[in-house]
Amino acid sequence: MTAESDASASDIAANFEEIEGRIREAAEKWERNAADVNLIAVSKRQPVTAVEAALSGGHRLFGENRVQEAQEKWPDLKARYPDIELHLIGPLQTNKAKDAVVLFDVIETVDRPKLAHVLAKEMKAAGRDLPVYIQVNTGKEEQKAGVFPEDADRFIKECRDDLALNVIGLMCIPPVEEQPAPHFALLGKIAARNGLSRLSMGMSADFETAVQFGATSVRVGTALFGARSAP
Ligand SMILES: *Cc1c(COP(=O)(O)O)cnc(C)c1O
Repeated sequence: MTAESDASASDIAANFEEIEGRIREAAEKWERNAADVNLIAVSKRQPVTAVEAALSGGHRLFGENRVQEAQEKWPDLKARYPDIELHLIGPLQTNKAKDAVVLFDVIETVDRPKLAHVLAKEMKAAGRDLPVYIQVNTGKEEQKAGVFPEDADRFIKECRDDLALNVIGLMCIPPVEEQPAPHFALLGKIAARNGLSRLSMGMSADFETAVQFGATSVRVGTALFGARSAP
């Protein structure tokens, strides 16, 4: 056996039920409306059969972290299920921006001026005004993408005012070795002071904490689909 996901369709259906239930319970506990928390099923490095199982169960909201992998997997599925909403949740190179704008419905990882400029240009060229999130590097980790918290206000303003990007929210990935709560709280604070209502935060290990701190979408992969294949 490899580490590759071998979750059956019925395992995956049961996992969706469990995770959706836990989101509902967390929402209830923190006096939030469960309908305000969307579950983004992160299907990166999962077989198409796993995605098919989720689609058969009625799920339509997915996240992928690489443009090239998504291009191999999603055009056929999107043709069959036109109501799929596909989010890019991984770092985007400027030379892939054009392809990303065609394939994805929401881009969650706008993290630097150069990318913001290229995206604005490519959206205009493609006639697609995609909603975007600004990724904030709340832990100021060197290897991680995202604008630093102290630069976020200025960057959000640049994206909105100078580039007319449709900025709808903020996204973060807390450092793995730290408690996520302060990072989620910080993201919420930056969003609030910039009048942004959406927060994409929380993964398999911490989505309930993210719900507590106001997540409007959680990005869950392994808890739904099982272990991923190696990169
Ligand atoms: C892979 C990934 C996830 C999902 O992580 P799990 O721990 O498998 O739930 C969420 N967000 C981003 C940005 C990812 O790259």
